[in-house]
Amino acid sequence: MNVYAKIIVDVPSGGTDHPFDYHLPDALAQTASIGMRALVPFGQRKLTGFIVDIVSETNLEKVKSVAELLDITPVLNEELLALGAWMSKETICFQITAFQAMIPAAMRAKAVKKIAVVESERSDLPMNIQAFFGQAGERSWADVPGDARLLRDIRSAVEQRQITERYELKDRAKHRTAKAVTVPSDVEEKPATKKQHETFALISDHYGKTEVAIQTLIHQLSLSRAVINTLVKNGFLQEKEIVIDRNPYTSAEGDGSEEKATLTVGQSRVLAQLEETIDQPQGSTMLLHGVTGSGKTEIYLQAIDRVLKQGKEAIVLVPEISLTPQMVERFKRRFGANVAVLHSALSVGERFDEWKKIQEQRVQVAVGARSAVFAPFTNLGLVVIDEEHESTYKQEEHPRYHAREIAIWRSERHCCPVLLGSATPSMESYARAAKGVYHLLSLPDRINQQPLPAIETVDMRAEMREGNRSVFSTTLLDKLRDRTEKGEQAVLFLNRRGFSTFVMCRNCGYVGMCPHCEISLTFHRRDSQLKCHYCGHEERVYERCPSCESTHIRFFGTGTQRVEEELQQLLPEARIIRMDNDTTKRKGAHERLLKQFGNGDAEILLGTQMIAKGLDFPNITLAGVLAADTLLHLPDFRAQERTFQLLTQVSGRAGRAEKAGEVIIQSYTPEHYAIQHAQTHDYLSFFKKELGQRKQAGYPPYYFLTLITFAHATYATAMKAGTHAAKLLRARLGDDAVILGPTPSPIARIKDRYRCQCMIKYRDEPEITDVLHELFSYYQKELQQDQRFITIDRDPNMFM
Ligand code: ADP
Ligand code: ZN
Ligand code: ZN
Repeated sequence: MNVYAKIIVDVPSGGTDHPFDYHLPDALAQTASIGMRALVPFGQRKLTGFIVDIVSETNLEKVKSVAELLDITPVLNEELLALGAWMSKETICFQITAFQAMIPAAMRAKAVKKIAVVESERSDLPMNIQAFFGQAGERSWADVPGDARLLRDIRSAVEQRQITERYELKDRAKHRTAKAVTVPSDVEEKPATKKQHETFALISDHYGKTEVAIQTLIHQLSLSRAVINTLVKNGFLQEKEIVIDRNPYTSAEGDGSEEKATLTVGQSRVLAQLEETIDQPQGSTMLLHGVTGSGKTEIYLQAIDRVLKQGKEAIVLVPEISLTPQMVERFKRRFGANVAVLHSALSVGERFDEWKKIQEQRVQVAVGARSAVFAPFTNLGLVVIDEEHESTYKQEEHPRYHAREIAIWRSERHCCPVLLGSATPSMESYARAAKGVYHLLSLPDRINQQPLPAIETVDMRAEMREGNRSVFSTTLLDKLRDRTEKGEQAVLFLNRRGFSTFVMCRNCGYVGMCPHCEISLTFHRRDSQLKCHYCGHEERVYERCPSCESTHIRFFGTGTQRVEEELQQLLPEARIIRMDNDTTKRKGAHERLLKQFGNGDAEILLGTQMIAKGLDFPNITLAGVLAADTLLHLPDFRAQERTFQLLTQVSGRAGRAEKAGEVIIQSYTPEHYAIQHAQTHDYLSFFKKELGQRKQAGYPPYYFLTLITFAHATYATAMKAGTHAAKLLRARLGDDAVILGPTPSPIARIKDRYRCQCMIKYRDEPEITDVLHELFSYYQKELQQDQRFITIDRDPNMFM
C-alpha cells in the first residue's frame, strides 16, 4: 500500500501556502506521524516541511518522496496544528510561519540533533539500538540509517525515555565555574559594621546555608562585591569555587515546600470564584483587576495548585522584563521541579531542554514570556496572563499574534479558564469585562492596607511664567537635592526620545490635534507642516498659539543626554546614572547600570520607560516624571492609556520598603484626565472617560483597526500601491468601513525603503479576513517582481 504525507513546506509565499503531497517510502512510513517535520525535495532544493496529514491516495500523477524525517516524535500535536491554521487565517500570515513560531528556536537554527542513551536503561534497549550506539553514549541523529525497524524502535525508546534528544549548538557553553560563598555553620557573633551586618543578614535570610554564586548576590540582591569580600575576610562567609552550567532562570531555587499564604478576605473571595470556574469544564476568560501589591500572584499560585491537583497543567505568561530569577523562584518555591521556564535569556539549547520537559510531560507548569502560550501541554487547566495590558504580548513580526487571543483559543479547546491580571487592564479587556464577556474579579486593596504613594503634579506652565525655563521644576529640584543630601535615591523618567515631535504651547499647554482622528499632529521640519499620521490631514505650523496667542511654542522631544547635562549643572554634587538606548546598547550594560544603582553608586537614575519596570530598590524614595506630555501626545490613539499605565507603574516604584515614597509628575496639562486619574489611583474613572473618547473618535474597543503598510525603494511606487489597495478595500468593504490613507508612515523610511500606510476602521465586516488575504497574496506575488513589501497588522499596537 502506498502512503502519502501532506506537507506544508518552508517557502513563505502565496503560491505555496497549502500542503503538497509526498510519497512516504516504506522505511519512513512506519514511523512518520502527523506533526513531525520532514526534509523534502522542492524544485532544486531540499526544504523542511511539517506533515499535516497522512493519507493513502493522491490525485497527483507524479509525486516526489520524502527524503528524511527530522523528528523522532511529533513536534506539533493536532491541537497546535489546528491553532497554526487558525493563526494563519486570523493574523494574515502563511501557515509555515505560524508553525515555525510554535517550536523552539533550536529546531530552526543550524543545530546538530543528538540522541543519547540513558545509561541505566542501556541493557533494556533492543539489540539493534545497542548495536547502533556501540560503546558510545551519544550519536548524531543524522547518522541513524534509514532502517524502518531501527527508526521505529528509536521512536519508542524516546517515548519511554530510554533515549533522550538534545540539540547541540556551537554557542553552548561548556562547564563554567564561578566563585561562590556559603554561610559557615559555626558563625555565632555578628559583623561589626551596620553595612556588613545588613549584607550578612540578607544573604543568610535568602540562602540559609546553601552556596550561592557571588555574581548572583550582586545581581539579585544588589550587594557590593567589596562588602562580600570583607565578610569573607572576617570569616562570616566562606568562599569556594562551584561549577555552574546553568542559567539563573533555569537554576532558580525552590523545592516546592513553601506553604500557601493565608488569604485575605478579598483574596479568598476572588479565589473562590476562580476555583468554581476551574471546576467547570468550559472555556471562559476572567479579568482580575488588582492594584499593585494586592496579592494577585498569590492567587495565581493557589489557583494553579488546584489545577495541578486535578492532574492538569498551567501556563503563566509574564512580560519578558518582569520574568526575573526572583519571579521564577516564587513559582519554584511553591511547585519545585514541576516548573519549566521559557525565557529569551536562555540559550537556544537550554530553551529546548525546558520545552522538552513540557512535551514529555515531566512538568505541569510553564512560566514564560509571550511564546510560552504555545507550550505543548495536552491537558491544560489554566492559562494566566499577568500584566495583561502590556504591549509585548503582541508579536510585532509575522505571525502578528496576540498571546491573549491564542490563550483564549486554547482555553476553548481545553475547556479551561484564562485568567488575565493587571493593575491597569487594557481598555479592550476591561470593556469586555464590563459587558460580561469576561468575568470581572477585583482586588481593590493592597495587602496589609499599605497605602499607595502620594502623587503630586507640577504645572510646568506656571513654572515658565515665573521664569523657570529648565526642564526641572523648582519642586522637583528641591526634592532631588534633598534626597541627594540624605543619601536616598530617586528615579527620573523621560519618554523615549521622540523621532516624531509635536508642537506644544508652553504658556497654555495647547497641542495641535487632527480634527478627524483625535491624535496629535506631528511636525515635519522639511516643509514646516503639521501632519496627521492616520489620515494625512496637513496644516501649516503656527507661530502663535491658536488658543492663547502666546509665541512660546516649542517642538518637543528632548533627549536624555541633554537632560542629564542640565541636571548635573543644577546639582553638581549628585551622582547620576543615565539609562537609555545609547547607554544600554552593549550586551549586559542594562544589568550593569542597574547593579551600580543598586549598589548605591549614584543617587539619581535617569532613563526612558525601560526603567519603569522591575526596579525594586528599597532606597528609592522619589520617582519623577519629567514631561508626562511627551507620552500623552504621541501620535497614537492609545497615548492616553499608555500614559495612565506608565504613571501608575512609576508610582508603584517609589516607597516599596519601609520608607515612604513620593511621586512628582511634571506636565504642561496637569488637568488632563489621564494624569488626574493616575494621581488619585482611580482606574475606573479613567476607563469611563477614555471609553467615551474612543467611542466618539471611532477606535477600539468600539471599532476594529487594521494597518496596512507598503514599502518600496521609491516613494511614488509605495504610494501607488497604497492608493490601489485603498481603492480595492473601498470597493470590497461595506459603507460603514472607513479607509484612511495612504499617507506616509511616521517613520517614513526604513533601510532605504519609503513607507506609507492605510488604516481600516470597521465594526462588522464578515468578509474582511478574506479580503485581507487576497490583498496579501496579490502583493506577495508582486513582491518577487519589484521588491514591494506589504505588511498587514490587525489590531495594531504600533503605528510607526
Ligand atoms: P501583586 O502580584 O498583586 O503585585 P503579590 O502577590 O506580589 O501582589 O503580593 C504582594 C506582597 O504581599 C508579596 O510580598 C506577597 O508575598 C504578599 N502577600 C500576598 N498575599 C498575602 C497574604 N494573603 N498574606 C500575607 N502576605 C501576602
Ligand atoms: Zn497657548
Ligand atoms: Zn487625522
